[in-house]
Amino acid sequence: MKINIAKSAGFCLGVKQALIIADEAVKNCAKIDMLGDIVHNEEVVKQIKKMGIKKINKLTNGKDKTLLIRAHGAPKSTYRKAKKLGYKIIDATCPMVKEIHQIAKQYQNKGYKIIIIGDKKHDEVQGIVGQLDKEPLVFNPKVKIEKKMLKGLKKAVVISQSTQNIDEVKNIVYKIKKYIPHLKFIDTICKPTRQKQNEIKTMSYQNELVLIIGSKASANTKRLYQISRKINPKTYWIENEKKISPHWFKNIKSVGITAGASTPENIIKSVVKKIKNIG
Ligand code: SF4
Repeated sequence: MKINIAKSAGFCLGVKQALIIADEAVKNCAKIDMLGDIVHNEEVVKQIKKMGIKKINKLTNGKDKTLLIRAHGAPKSTYRKAKKLGYKIIDATCPMVKEIHQIAKQYQNKGYKIIIIGDKKHDEVQGIVGQLDKEPLVFNPKVKIEKKMLKGLKKAVVISQSTQNIDEVKNIVYKIKKYIPHLKFIDTICKPTRQKQNEIKTMSYQNELVLIIGSKASANTKRLYQISRKINPKTYWIENEKKISPHWFKNIKSVGITAGASTPENIIKSVVKKIKNIG
């Protein structure tokens, strides 16, 4: 059985950077709090906890404490509140997410309505929304666009959550364009997501079976699964090697593997080892 691993499988630049920042923070700060999980992966979250970083649900007294901002970023109000409560802030927001914040703010200042394609409940989207002074429109890429949803807008810019499916985003932009005379689209899907999505499209055709490794809480992993599954029905989404069923591989000669942006290298290696043993 041939095993083909995507070059882009695993940690993206933003996650790598966030973990380096977290590691440095632990060396230099006594008490570190973080609102939510650093990234959407249970293994990484466990590792962060072991390092001594405490997950909190809301900000409290920040005296002698550091607040670590996660790779997904945060709304402006979080920074303001943390400072007021006495926290020192260490910002691990991914540079590509920060770029989306900048784009959104710039266009809002130029008088454009901001339209975000993404999951309203996702931390990254909430962070983008929370950077803006005026309420943007947020559309799920699967939503059916109707004229009344665009409230007679004449000038708007469409951006997207960094990990959306580029084909779905383009499709929705095309539909919005019918109703807004001056519509600009700025492709804000990050480079690692683009590489992962391009690779999985090819791999799903070239391999008899495809494994997507990553947490069920990871939005970018889910997208990889959806793209691959459409092309190759023998696509499985697993969190780790324990979720593999040997019978999947009966008569299979080639397996393609990729992993979400927050999946650690050791999990990918364990999956490969297990498949080799099955093979
Ligand atoms: S998926 Fe993209 S935007 Fe998100 S953390 Fe990774 S590099 Fe940054």
